[in-house]
Amino acid sequence: MIYANRPILLDIAAFCRDRLHIPIDININIHECCLKEDSVMGWCYDDYDEEHGYDIELEVTLDPVDAAETLCHEMVHIKQFSEGKDADEEEAEKLETILYKEWREYDEKIITYGYVGC
Ligand SMILES: [Zn+2]
Repeated sequence: MIYANRPILLDIAAFCRDRLHIPIDININIHECCLKEDSVMGWCYDDYDEEHGYDIELEVTLDPVDAAETLCHEMVHIKQFSEGKDADEEEAEKLETILYKEWREYDEKIITYGYVGC
């Protein structure tokens, strides 16, 4: 399951999960909070309270595009962690742009036609 305080974050995370083939039994909790002191736009970490889950924190003041791209970036890290790998920033930075672009195209299809073709 994916949990988020805003539906748009849920949509983006679910889209990335499908595209990245992250197993659906992994729980992902997305929070928006103040990360200014830490000078990051977002991060993710193992949720130690849960056996099979991760937390993502996003800086609450990000504009919508930055928030979406940062979420895509963190989803790439969750894929890496779920495969037992270390965080690979190069891959995450490359894929965040691609995922965001694909999500925008997917989202536009829903808005324009009300459905998504195959
Ligand atoms: Zn990163």
